[in-house]
Amino acid sequence: MPALLSPVLDLLTLQGTVTEAEAVTPRIRRLRIESPALADVAVRPGQQVRVMVGGGLTLRTYSIWRHDPAGAVELCVLDHPGDGPGARWARGAAVGDRVRLRKPEGTFVLRPDAAHHVFVGDETASVAFGAMLAALPEGARISGCVETETAADRLPLAHAGRLEWLTRGGSSLPDAVRRLAPAPGGIAYVAGEARTVQQIRQVLVREAGWERRAVVTKPFWAPGRRGLE
Ligand SMILES: Cc1cc2nc3c(=O)[nH]c(=O)nc-3n(C[C@H](O)[C@H](O)[C@H](O)COP(=O)(O)OP(=O)(O)OC[C@H]3O[C@@H](n4cnc5c(N)ncnc54)[C@H](O)[C@@H]3O)c2cc1C
Repeated sequence: MPALLSPVLDLLTLQGTVTEAEAVTPRIRRLRIESPALADVAVRPGQQVRVMVGGGLTLRTYSIWRHDPAGAVELCVLDHPGDGPGARWARGAAVGDRVRLRKPEGTFVLRPDAAHHVFVGDETASVAFGAMLAALPEGARISGCVETETAADRLPLAHAGRLEWLTRGGSSLPDAVRRLAPAPGGIAYVAGEARTVQQIRQVLVREAGWERRAVVTKPFWAPGRRGLE
């Protein structure tokens, strides 16, 4: 990266170091990135960071799996079949690598006071769900459906036993939500592949009678599109 760009990047991004890199499932790698600049930031469960990948000038977005107030974020990145620069970065990331990222941001976050929390999405969404679920107490009312390619791709989520787990190719996520038929009155968090997110929103709003504003959606990726955000 040209040295002239460095001061500009310092204003826009923070620098971190990869301090842990491990496979949590066969296709998902957990990366811990430490930086003193991450010590004094407030992070809401579900928020994300944008990471500079592909040699530096490409931004890709990843949910924060865990924030360590001592100064670190942990990401869980799926090695998807589209093989983009983000997936390649995560596949090759090694302890000691320097990385630039933007501060935590985003509004796809836990609404802690909801009477019922409904989580619906795929393996990419399950990272944000993991942070949100970890912040919920034992007594919280939780349900939802998570779809992964295989059972081995399931992240270890808090309250995982209260979710229905699907494998791709069987029942679709919208059909699983139809069967679940959650009664209105809570908050639904829906994320993952863009078209599926829209279909699930329609099931909740048109078929199950949910208010639109009670269904919080976030498209994370779409076939053929690059770096959705
Ligand atoms: C708010 C937010 C949070 C996100 N959090 C996470 C996260 O925690 N972990 C994570 O792994 N991803 C997460 N994503 C999704 C991730 O940012 C995208 O998948 C991103 O596009 C990957 O970049 P890439 O360079 O690997 O592929 P790109 O260059 O962006 O895409 C190349 C091609 O790959 C295909 N593709 C992309 N993603 C997938 C996928 N998941 N499955 C199958 N095919 C795919 C598409 O066909 C695409 O055209 C998040 C996205 C958003 C918006």
